[in-house]
Amino acid sequence: MSVPLLELSHVTRSFGGVHATRDVSLTLKQGEVIGLIGPNGAGKSTLVNVITGVHPPSSGQIMHNGERIDGMKPFQVAARGIARTFQVVQPFPAMTVIENVMAGSLFGSRIRSMSQAREAAAEHLRFTGLLTLAERPASELTLANRKRLELAKSLAMSPKLLMLDEVNAGLNTAEVDQALELIRKIAATGVTVLIIEHLLKVVLTLCSRVIVLHHGELIADDTPSNIVRNEAVIKAYLGARFAEKYRDSHE
Ligand code: ADP
Ligand code: MG
Repeated sequence: MSVPLLELSHVTRSFGGVHATRDVSLTLKQGEVIGLIGPNGAGKSTLVNVITGVHPPSSGQIMHNGERIDGMKPFQVAARGIARTFQVVQPFPAMTVIENVMAGSLFGSRIRSMSQAREAAAEHLRFTGLLTLAERPASELTLANRKRLELAKSLAMSPKLLMLDEVNAGLNTAEVDQALELIRKIAATGVTVLIIEHLLKVVLTLCSRVIVLHHGELIADDTPSNIVRNEAVIKAYLGARFAEKYRDSHE
């Protein structure tokens, strides 16, 4: 049996008295596309922060390719090929689009010269559909393109595992479809992708497995077709979402 790409064992992260993540155990295998869902405040972003070393776990253990990574600094985790996008996109606004991506490649990968970084960045911009905007200041980009830039920056770190924190939030239907295509393209290159997502359509069409958090605890880890039939998940999350959609479409 091969070693999982990532293995969390009984991971808890508390902030004061709040267990943002509570006793979470899960494994991610190389090449999987996994959804991570749950209500606001369920601990999804915290889990990504814990994996990437932003907030070390209060207890529990994280293994990457069979080696412990809990306690490592974010740059050390990034250097192992674990990248993420932020829920709130944070480009360097004064820098051009291509400079933003170059910063990513100099930070995370083995690229060490500026010309090499520029060449690699141009390739990531081509892949994400941003090449024509390469020389524009990042501050001029639309939200959809800022999200693409986040993806390009993450790809510049040559990730083996890419975690996407609500990359589709705030996008319109056409933009979500384009983002879906891009995520599919990334997954097709063999990168393991963990998607935090409120849009069930995205999760159910892209992911082979869905993990559900509620009050920091993992309440389900199953195929999409089982997830939509899971009583605990319907009660904690899907019911509320459907109700919200219903209200939205009847207002
Ligand atoms: P989600 O991404 O699922 O919406 P979060 O992981 O952002 O949820 O938050 C989970 C819980 O942890 C919330 O109660 C939130 O207020 C708390 N939390 C997250 N990050 C911090 C932090 N840096 N300091 C204090 N509390 C935090
Ligand atoms: Mg979040």
